[in-house]
Amino acid sequence: MSASADWFDRARKVTPGGVNSPVRAFGSVGGTPPFTHSAEGAWITDIDGNRRVDLVCGWGPLLLGHSHPEVVEAVRETSARMMCPGGSTVGEVELAEEIAKRVPALDEVRLVSTGTEATMTAIRLARGVTGRNLIIKFAGCYHGHSDGLLAAAGSGLATLALPGSAGVPEAITSQTIVVPYNDLEAVRAAFAEHEGQIAAVITEASPANMGVVPPAAGFNRELAEICHSNGALMICDEVLTGFRTGPAGWWGREQQDSTRGGWEPDIFTFGKVIGGGLPVAALGARREIMEHLSPNGGVYQAGTLSGNPVAVAAGVTTLRLADAAAYAAVDAAADRVVELVATEFQRVGQPFAVQRVRNLFSFAFGDGAALGWSGKDEFGNASPINEAEVKRQESFRYPAFFHAMLDGGVNMPPSVFEAWFLSAAHDDAALEQIAKALPKAAEAAAA
Ligand code: PLP
Repeated sequence: MSASADWFDRARKVTPGGVNSPVRAFGSVGGTPPFTHSAEGAWITDIDGNRRVDLVCGWGPLLLGHSHPEVVEAVRETSARMMCPGGSTVGEVELAEEIAKRVPALDEVRLVSTGTEATMTAIRLARGVTGRNLIIKFAGCYHGHSDGLLAAAGSGLATLALPGSAGVPEAITSQTIVVPYNDLEAVRAAFAEHEGQIAAVITEASPANMGVVPPAAGFNRELAEICHSNGALMICDEVLTGFRTGPAGWWGREQQDSTRGGWEPDIFTFGKVIGGGLPVAALGARREIMEHLSPNGGVYQAGTLSGNPVAVAAGVTTLRLADAAAYAAVDAAADRVVELVATEFQRVGQPFAVQRVRNLFSFAFGDGAALGWSGKDEFGNASPINEAEVKRQESFRYPAFFHAMLDGGVNMPPSVFEAWFLSAAHDDAALEQIAKALPKAAEAAAA
């Protein structure tokens, strides 16, 4: 029995499912999750001594790779001075200033510890500002595990949602309307049906929690316009995309593109990269909106660990190192991995779609023309544009692909519905390892 299998047995006796976040249990791919011993740069080593290239990267925070020496040093230096002073520290201001500098569409930032807290607070803030209750979210977008955002689409469009989890009262999800992604008509219908009642639309800047599903060109701009003409706020959730897909997140990338730019959300949420691997998240907005938050305004929010100096030190250092060269490195690694995977899938005759925004991508399995996917990917393949289409893929092919990659020394996300994450540390040696593992994995997927 491997050491990981042994520890997984022990874990299951003291922790539900043996894990502290469900996807880690390997439910959709089967097998034993490796227990990590150490990780450095692009590589992760388990307690059985298997060393693999990591395409999970902590689910997104590790833009620079694991344990970048300067991030480690900042954490060491800060923690030796203080761990949890319970009052203000310089780093909190530096991090807020850096975020505001990169994202000129916001003036102020409030630091919290998780993306879930950031979106939960953003929604409370939107309700406090507008005096309205209803929220629109898109099916397949994930915004953390607060009650109102664990809402599943009901049978009709623009209907009030059903709970997406046991333990969530219908009274709460009935305040959330779930509509299909990339569908502005459904958004307009919801606004028409609930006139004057919708506080906000929350959307991932570019969805990456149903695999990556790019927003159609102009979708975010049009969405902002619909929100604003109806007196509602737009919440742009960049917890995953923020400072990963570009120096100013996916919002910043869209502003550089005339077919997409020219919009501002009212509230941003961030997480992951801004903590560099430690728990930091944030919400940010123009001053007149942020003024509604406590202690200045009536919308309450607080946190013992909010702006924790050790976590903030990791975030400030990560953002300081996240320069143009770092983004160019991640983008180049993504180009290479997409090309390698596509080439192998073509070689073995495995139909696919690449779902991609810059350095963030995933692959959907199956013949999109036959499956009725209505988008187009960069190879001219039909690609899925919303959750219903994503779910039609041949997801049964992924476990074999995943395990062949794992055996070949590549740590993949353990679900076909997750993005693949790269870092600036994914150098030629790491890409070579991926290239070596792919032929067998592509054959396994196609079998
Ligand atoms: N929003 C988005 C877009 C996310 O991807 C996630 C987590 O993956 C969250 C919010 C929740 O963040 P956390 O897991 O830190 O609570």
